[in-house]
Amino acid sequence: MTQNLYDSKTGLSTSLVLARQAEEGPNHLPSSKPKKIHSLILDILSDPMVYLLISCGVIYFILGDPQEAFMLVGFLLLIITITIFQKVKAERALEALRDMSAPLAVVLREGKEFRVPGIEVVREDTILLCEGDRVPADAKLIESNQVEADESLLTGESAPVQKSVNQLIYAGTTIVRGQGRAIVQAIGSNTQMGKIGKSLMTRVHESSPLEIQTRNVVKKVSWPAIIICLFIIVSFGILRQDWISGSLVGITLAMAILPNEIPAALIIFLALGAWRMSQKRVLTRKISAIENLGAATVLCVDKTGTLTMNQMRIQTIFSQNKMIDLTKEKSEKIPEEFHEALEFGILACRQNPFDPMELAFLSAGDQFLLGTEHLHRDWHLEKEYPISPTFLSLSHAWKPSSQGDYIIGAKGAPEAIIDLCHLPKEKAQMNLKIANDMASRGLRVLGVAKSKSPPQFLPPIQHDLNFDFIGLIGIADPIRKEVPKAISECRSAGIRVIMITGDHPSTAMQIANEIGLGNSNQVLTGRELEQMNADQFVDSLKNINIFSRVTPNQKLQIVNGLKANGEIVAMTGDGVNDAPALQSAHIGIAMGKRGTDVAREASSLVLLDDDFGSIIEAIKMGRRVYDNFKRTLIYLSSAHIPIAGMSIIPIIFDMPIVLLPAHIALLHLIIEPASSIAFEVEPARENIMSDPPRNPDQGLINKSIVTAVILQGISILLALMIIFFVTLKKGPSEELARTNVFITLIVSNLMLIFLNVRSDSSLWKRLFSSRNKATNLIALGTIVMLIMILYIPSLRQILRFSVTSMRDVVICIVLGFISVFWIELIPRKFFKKERGTKSTP
Ligand code: ATP
Repeated sequence: MTQNLYDSKTGLSTSLVLARQAEEGPNHLPSSKPKKIHSLILDILSDPMVYLLISCGVIYFILGDPQEAFMLVGFLLLIITITIFQKVKAERALEALRDMSAPLAVVLREGKEFRVPGIEVVREDTILLCEGDRVPADAKLIESNQVEADESLLTGESAPVQKSVNQLIYAGTTIVRGQGRAIVQAIGSNTQMGKIGKSLMTRVHESSPLEIQTRNVVKKVSWPAIIICLFIIVSFGILRQDWISGSLVGITLAMAILPNEIPAALIIFLALGAWRMSQKRVLTRKISAIENLGAATVLCVDKTGTLTMNQMRIQTIFSQNKMIDLTKEKSEKIPEEFHEALEFGILACRQNPFDPMELAFLSAGDQFLLGTEHLHRDWHLEKEYPISPTFLSLSHAWKPSSQGDYIIGAKGAPEAIIDLCHLPKEKAQMNLKIANDMASRGLRVLGVAKSKSPPQFLPPIQHDLNFDFIGLIGIADPIRKEVPKAISECRSAGIRVIMITGDHPSTAMQIANEIGLGNSNQVLTGRELEQMNADQFVDSLKNINIFSRVTPNQKLQIVNGLKANGEIVAMTGDGVNDAPALQSAHIGIAMGKRGTDVAREASSLVLLDDDFGSIIEAIKMGRRVYDNFKRTLIYLSSAHIPIAGMSIIPIIFDMPIVLLPAHIALLHLIIEPASSIAFEVEPARENIMSDPPRNPDQGLINKSIVTAVILQGISILLALMIIFFVTLKKGPSEELARTNVFITLIVSNLMLIFLNVRSDSSLWKRLFSSRNKATNLIALGTIVMLIMILYIPSLRQILRFSVTSMRDVVICIVLGFISVFWIELIPRKFFKKERGTKSTP
């Protein structure tokens, strides 16, 4: 029952709101706090590289070599600075997303409605609540239109609680039904939620399968590495009786082998990927979605508002056996026989509707009924019979005067209205056929009916009223202009688009046809789905792309069925009822503007502008992140092979040690920014959207990656060995061999970055006209560093290098270059792994 107890129509004034905000602070509901700097430092201290460098420093001190120790501390500080920079960057990106994903509230201030972040709500604000909203503060209801709240977060009780006027609704709970208005009583920590210190889950970062896989790979490499290092320390200690040098060699080897940069790079890739998506107006609520996007094989979309603009206009009315096309009507008057359909259609709308379809009725009324006796703005709404997923019709009972009968208007799906009116079979079929014809033109078709009820009596359900059928209304909702192109992009990216709608099958088919959805002449209705057995159902999911008159429950079934068929499912939704399907899909996508808080919170992505085209952008970003990360992985793994090799080989052959801890730390100064920044900023390959979706069963490491890593790593290692042995053979200078090996290693490492950073242009082009500022900067920095350590005597000495001839430098550069360049000449086919090439129905 609607009650109006609150007499103020204006809400608070802006000045009072500002004063309250200053006085009482923000309406902070407890939520998972963003990471602070000290926790970042803790993160850094969990990096094994830090301990390895510190241990080496300590050993140098023991060995009486403080200069070397200080240098390592210097490198350690540099590495920590780079890591802090990377982590802060990632954390900032995630924090921005957290702010964007905070719930919004609709408040009434100075007589106007505003959508503001929940944090800005103040005491005594008037808040407007609607199905699907998260309540921003503790508030007292002053109007309740069948409000029901889910208070499970607070009480643990899962059944929704009915809320009437004067009752309190609590911050953090959700409105699952009805609408209401409430006055805020308490905010932030003074709310019930605040008092018990419960937290609203705003988790943006939870481990994605890729992160778990990466951690596993790192673990798999780390354990053998640690065992080898311990073995070397022990054998050095026992065989040579030199535990200190043994430890130094062992730790250096650990530094060379441990792939600690890989998980760090992934976190940055995912966080920055999410940030980049937010620039395209797609908010990431669960980081795992970015990775899943690249593997998505099916995109399930609702029709209204996603494929269409949700800007409705009444186009056709059928009543008393006559049809009128309102778009062709120049005058403001339409024949009398169509008035009643509009009149009762409007009576079946709210007085101040949000729903674009109801707005369309009101606007048609303003245009064609103004000045007639068919508009009843002074009538009082007495009762609403709401629509339900299983019966698609709603009725409103109005009281024209204090004594007279109730007048009832109903509108809804034609079959539901025909059912309400108990039309004889023939008449029913004729009207259903006309509805079908209208729907085949892409219109949404509603039936309209009327009824009366004696004063003081309104039955509890719509079916107990005697309805008279009035006619059919056809409503146009234009297709979003970006949709046909986006659908065709999806199809060429191997992603099947499935339309799941509550609308009429013919409307759905026509819209599907217009947007270029595959298989648009086949449709399955909710009722047909109901009658299928499990096998038929799973089978139908293989090629049917249109599901109509589907209930929210069936949406969930379809998502789960597709998942069972091995598809990676992305799905859009906006209502409270969509939440279970959004949650179940691999990638739940909610509409930011139209969507309810409940749907947004169940989703992993939110389209801030409700723009379908941005889903494609998001998929592209998902593919780009995965693609670039794979390249980083190849680069990092390949880069470790020569470093690890040159650390072990001299030990095995009892030759002078080439790489000392300082050299490895120096290499890290190049490798870390290269792996996280240079590869991350690289734009998507041009043909990235013509690839089929990534096969999710294919793990991170596959044959082609392993082949590339081994080939690149071993090739560089061979070049280093040649330089090492040849230099040593020429003269017994350990320093000279080290210098030449280091030059070759630096050059080949640089080449390795340029080789792996992209694949759709020639290495030559990348080297000399790269638009990736980060790779260029890293190349420049590396060359400057190399010149400095070769030609500044103090640096040369502290790093235990020696003067090398120009001829040697040129040979090292050429060999370093060739050791990588020849790989570019191998046909791509050699590395290409077979992909799951399914045809897209
Ligand atoms: P989609 O699920 O693609 O967004 P939809 O918006 O058409 O499609 P629903 O909102 O579930 O899906 O509506 C399903 C049907 O219910 C509509 O086609 C219409 O017949 C009926 N319907 C929905 N809203 C109303 C309403 N406010 N008044 C009357 N009938 C309605």
